[in-house]
Amino acid sequence: MTHGTLSLVATPIGNLGDITLRALETLKAADAIACEDTRVTSRLLARYEISKPLVIYNPEDARQGGSRVLALLTEGKRVALVTDAGTPGISDPGAELVALVRDTLPEVVVEAIPGPAAFVAALSIAGLPIASFVYLGFLPNKKGRQTLFKEIAAETRTVVFYESPHRIEKALASLAEVLAPSRRIAIARELTKVHEELVRGTVAEVQAHFIAHPDAIRGEFVVIVAP
Ligand code: SAM
Repeated sequence: MTHGTLSLVATPIGNLGDITLRALETLKAADAIACEDTRVTSRLLARYEISKPLVIYNPEDARQGGSRVLALLTEGKRVALVTDAGTPGISDPGAELVALVRDTLPEVVVEAIPGPAAFVAALSIAGLPIASFVYLGFLPNKKGRQTLFKEIAAETRTVVFYESPHRIEKALASLAEVLAPSRRIAIARELTKVHEELVRGTVAEVQAHFIAHPDAIRGEFVVIVAP
């Protein structure tokens, strides 16, 4: 009996050039590509002239998308899993699909085709201690958010998390409440894109930057808090 292969293919986090040769080979060799949003993935595939059947896999459609992927893998097919950006499973729906496949079809080969992840890129350019860090993904919207900020203040390792543009100012205000005034932070915005920037300093300095440049409260953000 042939067993299928699920390849987790990391894709660019902004700059479409950030894709590995192996990722392109894997996408070209796949029987189907499971993705979060066909518009996002189609743009990437068009850039590399790859045409494959797409299977939508997202949290709203987890059951249906998951069962389609399971059916393909049971037939021995090669399925490449991509998400809208970065490494599948890092704060996106990829992890649920991997768990589903591993739990349901343990004989399927699950392989990593590594590439970008926004928090790794942010840590690499921040110039803050990164020998040891804690990744928190997206912070909860309401429940437990304030407690988490207090835990971040007490943390002895660097902390890195994702934040949306709607909440970045609130997150900075919360950090200002709990962190010592001299504690250093960095905000990486729009990594690998035209408006990429890294703002670093104390919370007050970073807040002052965003007050002076309200246009910068746009795009995608990674927040880093030094120990
Ligand atoms: N799987 C992705 C990864 O490997 O980083 C993360 C997906 S998560 C749904 C999307 C969040 O990642 C964004 O809200 C933002 O916080 C962060 N992110 C993704 N691309 C980014 C970029 N180019 N610059 C800064 N942050 C980014």
